[in-house]
Amino acid sequence: MSEQKNPEEGNSPVNWSRGLIIVAVLIVVFIGGQILFNQFRGAGSEISMAEVARYVNEGQVEKITVSSNDMVTVQLLDGNVLASRKEPDISLLETLKLYGISEEQFRQLDIRQESASWQGLLPMLFNLLTIGLIAWFVLFMMRSMRSGQDQAMSFGRSRARMINVDTPVVTFADVAGVEESKQELQEIVEFLREPEKFIRLGARVPKGVLMIGPPGTGKTLLARAVAGEAGVPFMSISGSEFVEMFVGVGASRVRDLFTKAKQVAPCIVFIDEIDAVGRMRGTGLGGGHDEREQTLNQILVEMDGFDNDTNIIVIAATNRSDVLDPALLRPGRFDRKVYITRPDVRGRQQILEVHTRGKPLLSEVNLETIAKITPGFAGADLENLVNEAAIFAARRGRNALNMQDFQDAMEKIAMGPERRSRVITPEEKEVVAFHEAGHAVTMFFLQNADPVHKITIIPRGMAGGYVMPLPESADTSLHSREHLEDRIVGLLGGRAAEEIMFGRITTGASSDLESSTSIARAMVTRYGMSEKVGLRVFSDDPNMVFLGRSLGEQRDYSDETAHTIDKEVDRILKNSYDRARSILTEHRDKLIALANMLLEVETLDRNQFEELMAV
Ligand code: ADP
Ligand code: MG
Ligand code: ZN
Repeated sequence: MSEQKNPEEGNSPVNWSRGLIIVAVLIVVFIGGQILFNQFRGAGSEISMAEVARYVNEGQVEKITVSSNDMVTVQLLDGNVLASRKEPDISLLETLKLYGISEEQFRQLDIRQESASWQGLLPMLFNLLTIGLIAWFVLFMMRSMRSGQDQAMSFGRSRARMINVDTPVVTFADVAGVEESKQELQEIVEFLREPEKFIRLGARVPKGVLMIGPPGTGKTLLARAVAGEAGVPFMSISGSEFVEMFVGVGASRVRDLFTKAKQVAPCIVFIDEIDAVGRMRGTGLGGGHDEREQTLNQILVEMDGFDNDTNIIVIAATNRSDVLDPALLRPGRFDRKVYITRPDVRGRQQILEVHTRGKPLLSEVNLETIAKITPGFAGADLENLVNEAAIFAARRGRNALNMQDFQDAMEKIAMGPERRSRVITPEEKEVVAFHEAGHAVTMFFLQNADPVHKITIIPRGMAGGYVMPLPESADTSLHSREHLEDRIVGLLGGRAAEEIMFGRITTGASSDLESSTSIARAMVTRYGMSEKVGLRVFSDDPNMVFLGRSLGEQRDYSDETAHTIDKEVDRILKNSYDRARSILTEHRDKLIALANMLLEVETLDRNQFEELMAV
């Protein structure tokens, strides 16, 4: 960790005295709470839950009362009343199960839930207050530590944040467009529902599932849905939290996590961003990853220590399995892999259906169309889209969402907010109009380009204007060479138009050039679409150095090959540019007509555009 030291904060006496006051208040409240608590509880000795279970087993129990503060009062047949206390997040049934009481036995008991009376409430209030103060104090300590106050360290070491536990209500119905993944996880759900059934048959159930997929594709959601489907607790922790934590805490947090998990089992332990701790060991830049390694080791130790009847399933999520330590993937650890990809059109439509559930939509809203114009959107993006659309509708004073709301939300997300107020000179506007018209006209005359969905010269985000294609081929996963080539031609059409009309070029085309270069490069180095270079795949990901693999592996080919690749990329770009130029020269009249139309009305939709091109 290399936090910057801030001389302004740090050791100032003000911070310290504040800390002391908090400690004092804390102690007083805590003691006060305890005294009151004991008083209202009616004293009496406390027995353990194991003893409660023993009484149940021996059939001596007349009645059990569970109060809202987790006090368990046991009335015996012989009239004696005993008090016990159970873990807050575990139900009485789960607790008794731990001590060998079966569901049958439990059902025969006379159990009453005592609603919160003021007597129970008061001490609870105090406890809550105490917890709140402690949390505040720890946060305060962490903050001052970050600004370089290392003396406070020993205090902050105590549990920085509790592990999150809940029993989710989401189910598979809330996760759309990932049918295969759901099927693969179905088995886990069944196991968690009835572990005995599997154990009886001696089936080896998986201990760990690794979910691999880009951000926002619903990994967390799906893991929660598994717990929700099975009706078991979900405990989660994030790999990145370990890395940020104080030295030496990671491993003990893992231990705590699993201890707690064993108490509530069957359950799911979810480790998000496992790559943060699970990178290949002994590699990477910078060194000093002991903390990470210890944390990772502890996770492995815990998983290896699972017995056949440890009903815990560990689900880990990552968006880069390529950097994971192979030790994690060994049998008996994360030996199940579930890949989650960005949704295809159908998937996107289904996700939109999930997120528009319960939102008023006008009948004109066609989710299929929206799914079509959102290739590359992950579930989280689509959720965001629906939300933005709802905001547009609300701001426009309507009580249902219409298609325009979605359209605007999409553009806002894809391009950044509209910037009507940006000052543009008339000359600039003209250049933009011809640039965008150049894209659109080229695309119109290309065989394999997507149809134009919208053209505008209203600035948005970084762009002076843009042409939005309607991807008919729908998804980006499979493209023909012709399609890719035509995409490049379309991208270069903007610049070609500027050159033809004004004889000079501007910087407006820079992102077009970037996109076309990366497509051309991918064609040569990844898709085997250049005869000269052949079918070999070349990796030259400059990021690779930072991923924890060894250095010097950045390029796996010779300088000569590099030269050939460069020349092939150049050739593709040059050919495409020539094609764009010749299309626009041939249809110069259309280019001019469209640009003039744009200068007049600023935005054209598909129909308006195609009408204009037809004359
Ligand atoms: P990840 O963990 O893969 O980054 P999340 O599970 O955190 O993604 O997804 C964030 C949000 O996006 C979810 O809470 C959900 O609202 C939405 N979302 C993502 N994927 C889906 C999906 N397949 N179906 C429905 N909603 C989804
Ligand atoms: Mg997540
Ligand atoms: Zn452009």
